[in-house]
Amino acid sequence: MLENVEVQPKRLDDYQPIVGAEMIYELQQLANDLKGARVLNINATSFGGGVAEILTTLVPLMRDLGIQAEWQVIHGSDEFFNVTKASHNGLQGMDIPLTDDMKNIWLHYNQLNAEKLEGEYDFIIVHDPQPAGMLHFCNRKHGKHWIWRCHIDTSNANPAFWGFYSQYINSYEAAVFTMKQYVGPGVNFEHLAIIPPTIDPLSPKNAPIPLERAREGVAGFGIDPSRPLITQVSRFDPWKDPLGVIDAYRLVKKEIPNVQLALVGSMASDDPEGWYFLDKTSRHAGEDSDIFILHNFQGVGAYEVGCFQTTSDSVVQKSTREGFGLVVTEALWKGKPVVGGNVGGIPLQVINGETGYLVDSIEDCADKVLYLLQHPDESRKMGKASQDHVRHHFLSMHHLKNYLHLFRSLAIV
Ligand code: UDP
Repeated sequence: MLENVEVQPKRLDDYQPIVGAEMIYELQQLANDLKGARVLNINATSFGGGVAEILTTLVPLMRDLGIQAEWQVIHGSDEFFNVTKASHNGLQGMDIPLTDDMKNIWLHYNQLNAEKLEGEYDFIIVHDPQPAGMLHFCNRKHGKHWIWRCHIDTSNANPAFWGFYSQYINSYEAAVFTMKQYVGPGVNFEHLAIIPPTIDPLSPKNAPIPLERAREGVAGFGIDPSRPLITQVSRFDPWKDPLGVIDAYRLVKKEIPNVQLALVGSMASDDPEGWYFLDKTSRHAGEDSDIFILHNFQGVGAYEVGCFQTTSDSVVQKSTREGFGLVVTEALWKGKPVVGGNVGGIPLQVINGETGYLVDSIEDCADKVLYLLQHPDESRKMGKASQDHVRHHFLSMHHLKNYLHLFRSLAIV
């Protein structure tokens, strides 16, 4: 059997004060014909990264609507996760080879996991490329409707990787991408849905934290809350460009010498490159004691991430590829305009000049961070627009609604 992930129950009614009674009613109506439907989510890790974050909320909320939702994670090994991380990079456009050995390792683990799959489901949602080959080995058994959910930016995929993976992806009845331009060539799904990810406004990370407590939270890591703080929360990954963030911070520091930088990252179990890139980031930071490089093994959990996002004077997400960027949503929700890379899903969230700034270079990033630090009133005004933008588009209820529509269109209810 695949490993089952336990989730804490959640009640939709608790979200009514945030999204309004009408939205909750609409969800209940949409779910009426889906009561009892069996839904299985399959992904690679129960912790670290956006997919785990999303499922922790969507699975219990589906249950609250009467859907029998489950979440299981696949089994892997270092050799498998090395291949899947390389594939993640290749699918996001990195110029690296895809060897026969790599293909065989991926196929082997997908077959093993397909053999471990048990039970019968109405909908099986397979998240991301790691388990995407399971459908092939299951021969359509176990699930009436198979959905592939892509969370990464495949708009400029390396053709070797897209060519290989698309053969397997193409056999799904439905696919979900975050943006239309992520759908690469040569695939043709019966059902294609464009659904952006969302955040849970009541999770420990996103529920409001009083400023004083948030300040105490970051002070526990050695940060001086009375001095300005720039933060990027991200896995240690080349696409998140932590080295570029350090360079931008150094430019800001020339103007504001007491500024501090926090790079906060979690080490996901399916990301073997994380430790290597963490080390690279630490070396780039050198001896600067105003740079804080922190991760979950040092006690930075969900609540602490919330503290950083709440207290930071400037939140940066300087990605060079970004499927969506939940960390951007999380910061906007806390009323922080975000200075973000002009890539992937970030422009869906950062409306240039309204909810933050879109940047294309280190200098540009430093300029915009500096501007926001020097204009706190404007930053606060933009923060209000940022929060409204998330409230209207990127909360879990929107996600749920989109999935219910997709289920209904597949099951024709
Ligand atoms: N995250 C976390 N702790 C960290 C770093 C990240 O909890 O130290 C969470 C972050 O808050 C967000 C998710 O991991 O909810 C990352 O999702 P995102 O879409 O930004 O990036 P991904 O890691 O999926 O590429």
